[in-house]
Amino acid sequence: MSSDLDEIVFADLSKYRKKKEMPPFPLVAIVGQQVMKKTLLLHASNPDIGSIMLVGEAGIGKSTAARGLRDILPRTESITGCFYNCHPEDKENWCMDCKSSVEDLNSYPTRISISELPIGASEKRIFGGFDHKSRLKPGFVGRVNHGYLILPRANLLDPAFLNRLLDISEAGIHRSKSESGDFSHPADFKIIATMNPEDGELDNEVLERFSMIISVKAIKDIEERIEIVRRVEAYRADPEDFVLKNRREMEAFSARVTRARDLVKRTDVPEKVEEAIKKITKKLGQDNDWVKDALRQAALANAAFDDRVWVTVDDVAEIAELVLGHRME
Ligand SMILES: [Zn+2]
Repeated sequence: MSSDLDEIVFADLSKYRKKKEMPPFPLVAIVGQQVMKKTLLLHASNPDIGSIMLVGEAGIGKSTAARGLRDILPRTESITGCFYNCHPEDKENWCMDCKSSVEDLNSYPTRISISELPIGASEKRIFGGFDHKSRLKPGFVGRVNHGYLILPRANLLDPAFLNRLLDISEAGIHRSKSESGDFSHPADFKIIATMNPEDGELDNEVLERFSMIISVKAIKDIEERIEIVRRVEAYRADPEDFVLKNRREMEAFSARVTRARDLVKRTDVPEKVEEAIKKITKKLGQDNDWVKDALRQAALANAAFDDRVWVTVDDVAEIAELVLGHRME
C-alpha cells in the first residue's frame, strides 16, 4: 500500500491537468500544509507583502496550491478591451490607451487574475517590443498587470531573467530601453515562485528579494497520505464535480480575503508594533527598511485576515519566521 501511495503525488496531477483545460485543484482541498496555505491567503489579502517563494521537493503540491488561489482571489472590475486590466476607478494607474481614450470606457466584473509563466516563451513574448511597423506589442508582463504571476521552478530560470521580473514587479511598471525605442506601461503584478532545491541553488541575493520563503515538507502521516490520494483521485475522476463540492469553502475564503484587502487599507501599525519590528530586526542583524516593511505588511495581512483593524505584537511574532527564516540561514 505505501509504495502505491508514494507514486501518487501532485506532479502526477500536473501532467494530467495539462491534457485539457480544467479547473485548478482547490486550495482548500489540499491536505495539511497549513503554513503554505496560510501564506498564500495572507499574500492574497495583502499583495504589498511582495514576492513569495515556496521551497520543497517535486510533487508535493507547491504549484498546485498557487494555482488553487485562482478561485479565492477577490472579485474586481476591468476596463473592457484594456490589455492591462486597468481598473475603472484607479485612473492614476491607467495605461496610456485608457488615459487617452476619448470614448466612455466600459468595464466588466472579473476576478484578480493569476497566471503562470508560459514555458519556453521568447523574451519578446514576455517583455514585449515593437513590431515591424514600430507599433508597441506589450508582452506577458503587461497582461498580468494587477494580478499574480506564478513562476514554477524559478531556480531553473536564468537569474538575469528572474531578476528582471522581480525588478518589474517591485516597480509596478515595465520600462524598456532598446535600440528600436523606449516604452513603459503598467506591470503591477506579484510573484509566487516555487523551487525544488534538488534542481540547484539560487543566489542568496536573489532569494533575499523574496519577502517570504516557505519550506514545504512532504506529508509523512499515513492517514493524511491516504486522504491526499482519495482527493486527488476524486478530482481526476470528475474535476468539475470535485470543485463544486468545495465551492462553499472556497467562497468563504474568498469573502475573507476580499474583506481583509479592505481592512488592510484602514489599518495602522501602532508604535508598539513598530518598536517590536525594530527590536527583532536589530537583534537578528536584519536592520534594514526592506525587511522591516516586509514584516509590517505581513503583520497587517495577518491582522486583516483575522478580521481586525489593529495589528499586535503577536501578529509580528506569528509571521516573523516566514519573513526572517531564510535570512538567518
Ligand atoms: Zn488600460
